[in-house]
Amino acid sequence: MSAILFVEDDNTIAMGVEYSLRQDGFQVSLAYRLEEARDLLERQPFDLVLLDLGLPDGSGYALCKEIRAAGDTPIIILSARDEESSVVLGLDLGADDYITKPFRLRELISRMKAVLRRRGPVEAGDRTLTCGDVTVFTQQAKVYKNDREVFLTALEYRLLLTLILNQGRVLTRSQILGSIWDVDEDFVNDNTLTVYIKRLREKLEDDPQNPALIKTVRGLGYQAGD
Ligand code: CA
Repeated sequence: MSAILFVEDDNTIAMGVEYSLRQDGFQVSLAYRLEEARDLLERQPFDLVLLDLGLPDGSGYALCKEIRAAGDTPIIILSARDEESSVVLGLDLGADDYITKPFRLRELISRMKAVLRRRGPVEAGDRTLTCGDVTVFTQQAKVYKNDREVFLTALEYRLLLTLILNQGRVLTRSQILGSIWDVDEDFVNDNTLTVYIKRLREKLEDDPQNPALIKTVRGLGYQAGD
């Protein structure tokens, strides 16, 4: 049973989601403020943190940063602010995924399960994959550009793996979405994938504006390598 920390100050959302998650077999701890969340995190390990951004005693971003500094506990941001800038900031701070409010419970649970699964063993088996100057060691889930290790969030890693395992092939946006999110496509809008591709390029490309590793194939999708 996965232990979930749900940090949310809106009582109605908190109670509703808590009830549904329990029905689905999750063990849920609720925190209404950052302070309570920090206390809970000190007391027990969690498998996943669901994090609201606007909290009475500060921003969820601060907690996101602290959790990431302490380890790799998966984080999903629940945000009413759907502008790209807030999403990018959350991902910069190491969140694994984000969901925009209002969301459907079925969507939330699917995305949570996808994030939890991604933390499990990688389907690619024990392999060393290369594409240009990027090397992926799937056993340790480590990524290197030349000799420098590059740190990716679980979702960025999964996206890279999907592209590299299909090197030389054009993957449509929906093929990529299907393989990394494991949920109905309509849950994830196009903007989400664009943001993740951008993040990956910023971490891996020599010139993110002129990508050599992950190419955009206009009107079709994306392609890694030649
Ligand atoms: Ca709030």
